[in-house]
Amino acid sequence: MPLYDYLCESCETPYEARHGFNDPAPACPACGSAQVHRVITRAPSSLKGIMAEAGTGGRASSAELQSKWAEETPKLRKKLADKLGEDTVNRYAPSLNHNYE
Ligand SMILES: [Zn+2]
Repeated sequence: MPLYDYLCESCETPYEARHGFNDPAPACPACGSAQVHRVITRAPSSLKGIMAEAGTGGRASSAELQSKWAEETPKLRKKLADKLGEDTVNRYAPSLNHNYE
């Protein structure tokens, strides 16, 4: 099962949890809060190593770009949802709902 990084929104404790793709986020181990969100921190280091060996040094690798994209998309989606409403975002920008697992 994949390992996910989480950050508790109540006490800001970062933690890792291993669980299935469709399972809900596990509660914070420090305070028990369910108000947590997943953090997409990095591309796998093994992949970065391969990209570096392939001579992409100095430029952002596709893994880094994807990581950045995965980081920014939820923020963009939240902005749109705040402004336009969840229904509108779901209808007109379904790609923003994509999960970057
Ligand atoms: Zn907590």
